[in-house]
Amino acid sequence: MGPTDLEGFQEARDLLASADTVSVLSGAGVSAESGVPTFRGEDGLWKSYQPEQLATPHAFRRDSRLVWEWYDWRRGKIRECRPNPGHEALARFALGARDVRIVTQNVDGLHEEAARTVAGGSDADPAMPLELHGSIFRVKCTSCTYRVPHRDPIPTESFDDLPKCPVCGSLLRPDVVWFGESLDAGVLSEAFRVAQSAQVCLVVGTSALVHPAASVPLATRDGGGEIVEVNPTETPLTPLASVSLRGASGEVLPSLLDGLE
Ligand SMILES: [Zn+2]
Repeated sequence: MGPTDLEGFQEARDLLASADTVSVLSGAGVSAESGVPTFRGEDGLWKSYQPEQLATPHAFRRDSRLVWEWYDWRRGKIRECRPNPGHEALARFALGARDVRIVTQNVDGLHEEAARTVAGGSDADPAMPLELHGSIFRVKCTSCTYRVPHRDPIPTESFDDLPKCPVCGSLLRPDVVWFGESLDAGVLSEAFRVAQSAQVCLVVGTSALVHPAASVPLATRDGGGEIVEVNPTETPLTPLASVSLRGASGEVLPSLLDGLE
């Protein structure tokens, strides 16, 4: 049985085909299909620390070297991962005629990589995602507004080796949203603006449990649009979706979006 045999497949395609504006919300499931570890539970244990003990402003103040060492290890794992057919189908969809915006909860940069691959390395703004939780491959200054892409390994032998801001000399940190921190207000308001005006919100690989990201599809629905869900299992959002396709995004999306670019 292929994706096109899934219950609701044609209905989902018709909804997407007739929509001029589409918001996409992607989550951890899309990354997991590329082999990105969840960094939770057994899968994510590093020196017996839990993410909640390291991904906080408090942990970074207390021991920034340790937190950077953990991020360097995570970045190394993620650097080995490539976008999967789901990322690529979304990038092609976003580069097409429709007004499509990808909003992601993922910090691994794989949507951006897919956009660059699909667009042949040219500037691919329409396929560039709004990253609700930041990017693990960007760094930002702890004092000023300096912020740049950064993929290379981080030296973490001692505090003195840690990366410093070339503008003000303060310590740099991963440009991700930590536990206890607010999401970037500009990114969040843009995500809601996009979601509210979208005729369809395509939700892929997320259990839609974590707010405020989970509110994105609700904004589309409140704006009169419909929700199309692609997820291997039922989620809290399923009852609110017009169609739910039970499958992996890497398998379903290439067929679902084929010809809709
Ligand atoms: Zn600075």
